Amino acid sequence: MTSEIPVYNPATEEIIARVPMMSRETIREIIGRTYDASSEVMAIPAYKRSKLLKEVARALRDQSDELARLLTAEIGRPIRSTKLIIERTASIYELAAQEISHVFSGEFVPLDLYDYPPGNENRIAFVVREPVGLVGAITPFNFPPDSMAHKVAPALAAGNSVVIKPSSYAPLTITRIVNIIKQTGFPQDAINVVTGDAKEIGDEFVDNPKVSLITFTGSSSVGLSLAGRAVAQGKKVIMELGGSDAMIVLEDADLSRAAQAAIIGRFDYAGQFCNATKRLLVRDEVFDKFVGMLADMAFNLRVGDPLREDVDLGPLISRDAVKLMDLFVKDALDKGGKVLFRYKEVPSKGFYYPPTIIEATRDARVLREEVFGPVLPVVRIKDDEDAVRVANSVEYGLDASIFTRDFARAYRLASKIKAGSVFINDTTRLRFDNLPFGGYKKSGIGRESVRDTMREMTETKVIIQSLI
Ligand code: NAD
Repeated sequence: MTSEIPVYNPATEEIIARVPMMSRETIREIIGRTYDASSEVMAIPAYKRSKLLKEVARALRDQSDELARLLTAEIGRPIRSTKLIIERTASIYELAAQEISHVFSGEFVPLDLYDYPPGNENRIAFVVREPVGLVGAITPFNFPPDSMAHKVAPALAAGNSVVIKPSSYAPLTITRIVNIIKQTGFPQDAINVVTGDAKEIGDEFVDNPKVSLITFTGSSSVGLSLAGRAVAQGKKVIMELGGSDAMIVLEDADLSRAAQAAIIGRFDYAGQFCNATKRLLVRDEVFDKFVGMLADMAFNLRVGDPLREDVDLGPLISRDAVKLMDLFVKDALDKGGKVLFRYKEVPSKGFYYPPTIIEATRDARVLREEVFGPVLPVVRIKDDEDAVRVANSVEYGLDASIFTRDFARAYRLASKIKAGSVFINDTTRLRFDNLPFGGYKKSGIGRESVRDTMREMTETKVIIQSLI
């Protein structure tokens, strides 16, 4: 009998499904079949790949309510947002359908522009893109369908096949979407899903020469170790990793707007976003007024059953995640921090954690590590240099945001902050699927946008023709 992995509903602690714990042989066999299908995908004309991707988007919209409920059940994200997530996912497939014409436009280069090597007046060149072959994709628990879309849509658009490994916490929506893609007319083995021991699947992606590129979204520790080994095997990698985004509130900011952005930035989906606002840096002059506004807004958050339309925050993904929040808070208090706000009561069943705001000392773990839950550390800053120093003091560099009415000052600060995106007067918790997304330092390698990813998922080939 094959062993299985239970999948829990984090809001009820009940097992809602089981997925196979595949053996290494099964994983290898699936990689082999998917690799064989890559030549079939490659042979589909570009206009048809574009049509099929639009078909995937249509099928996702047709099944949107069912997919949103399944997603809420497996990751505990409130239903209001999971409906939007399915719409976003559909639009990523549409974006990939459109981008095919940009990425595969090709280039003709008359070589007589250069006098070296001699004889160039009798040569011309073509620069073309070709699919890499088989893509190995690994997704995190927190946004399965859209993270999958950022990998699978560009991979198929570029003419590759894909093996996807979802998080063991969240394999259900992804498996359902893989079946939807199979039904839209792509070859049966253009995409397959593997479930099982994460390390074993990662090792197989690295060691198996049939996998040409690994695209990973998840924690920095896992991603960087995987990337190092994959690159040593000559594979391409795209790594979207952790973050500890800072939000800077200057003394001339619109404090009400800034407080709303911080609340959404930290507490949406219980803070389980790579680009959640994980550190709040506030000018001394407005600190007390600002944290008062924050506490009032946090008081009005609705925590509870994520299937209810009026709920803002559901549970964390696991019991371990809840325990980790307690450790972070304890460490912050032991180091001299103080609790500024703690939510009244959360359901006792399910992996809930009360939204908490802490004035933290600079050596607290909450200001140095990635906190993946509803704990918001706030720290006082004295001037712009201090703000930049604290913002840059972590090993991550995903997003940051600055609240001020002075655009020139915001721009100067933005250019000194080491982060992949800097928002001015907006929350960090935004992502635009047509813009490059990714980070400095341990937040990633490369950038994901549908167009950037499609380029990365192709090889560039130069064909040089001698005219004699
Ligand atoms: P995780 O690193 O624990 O897991 C991510 C994926 O890697 C999962 O599918 C997991 O099963 C798999 N995995 C675990 N060990 C592995 C191994 N040894 N080899 C291969 N695969 C392995 O991360 P998570 O808890 O699922 O997600 C949260 C993390 O992801 C946070 O750090 C968050 O910031 C990051 N994240 C980043 C982005 C981004 O775009 N930058 C987006 C979402 C999440």
